[in-house]
Amino acid sequence: MSSAPRSWKLLDILEETSRFFADRHIPDARLQAELLLAAVLDLKRLDLYLQFDRPLDAGEVDRYRDCVRQRLRRVPVQYIVGTAAFRHLELSVTPAVLIPRPETEVLVDVALERLADRSAPRCLDLCCGSGAIALSLAFENERALVAASDISQEALQIARQNAERSGVSQRIEWLCGDLFAPLGDRLFDLIACNPPYVRHGDIATLEPEVRQHEPHLALDGGGDGLDFYRRICSDAGRFLAPAAHIIMEIGHGQADDVVSMLDGTAQYEAVDVIADLNDIPRVIAAQRRVEIAHG
Ligand code: GLN
Repeated sequence: MSSAPRSWKLLDILEETSRFFADRHIPDARLQAELLLAAVLDLKRLDLYLQFDRPLDAGEVDRYRDCVRQRLRRVPVQYIVGTAAFRHLELSVTPAVLIPRPETEVLVDVALERLADRSAPRCLDLCCGSGAIALSLAFENERALVAASDISQEALQIARQNAERSGVSQRIEWLCGDLFAPLGDRLFDLIACNPPYVRHGDIATLEPEVRQHEPHLALDGGGDGLDFYRRICSDAGRFLAPAAHIIMEIGHGQADDVVSMLDGTAQYEAVDVIADLNDIPRVIAAQRRVEIAHG
């Protein structure tokens, strides 16, 4: 962007910034220029289109420039503006939590479907991060009683704020600890989980936005990416009521391995693999058997 002092009209600064982003290979240059400007001006993105001739004052230009500079350092737009959209909610996000992804919205669809016939379903969002899954379950099923757990205190704090903003905090219990450690003897009708599942060696190959700015704690699934599924598949049964559901997000190519882990426990039936909007197997759902053979 030119640094010569001048007065900027909204459309001009937008066009200049999109060209600038495009030259520097920032994806979706125009859209991202718009999202950042809308945040600075506290407008909805589409309302920018009604104000193309609006002059920006010096403070607005400075704040916008600061956002543009962050974006050039590959900070994701959601961290710059501080929020991410997920289903019906707008969630606060900071680099302490993964930015919720559209793929995870599919997991919530599957969970809501499986809860449809339950009267007061006890749900757990294991590794809740920003709270996207937990809060959506509570928001979209008003009978749901939700627990949300995470190993990161910082993440839980953000999730709690998000719950308050979304008006669902009275139906959510917060638990801090490593996977099942903080659960005591609680039993659930549904456990939903989007665990870290990226292979350790693949982290270096992720987009700079992810690799440099998102929390590796929420991404790194160990050498083969499957560390958390091994632990979840072996331990979840103890926290699931008979006929309860377990629903997990998985990474590309992990479906067969995770299905075998579930099958290997002999505790689950109706194991199902559901594809995301790009037709990639993305969610595994299963039901805990009512009768579990012992011995
Ligand atoms: N979907 C994320 C990514 O590919 C990974 C999320 C996770 O590990 N749970 O960047």
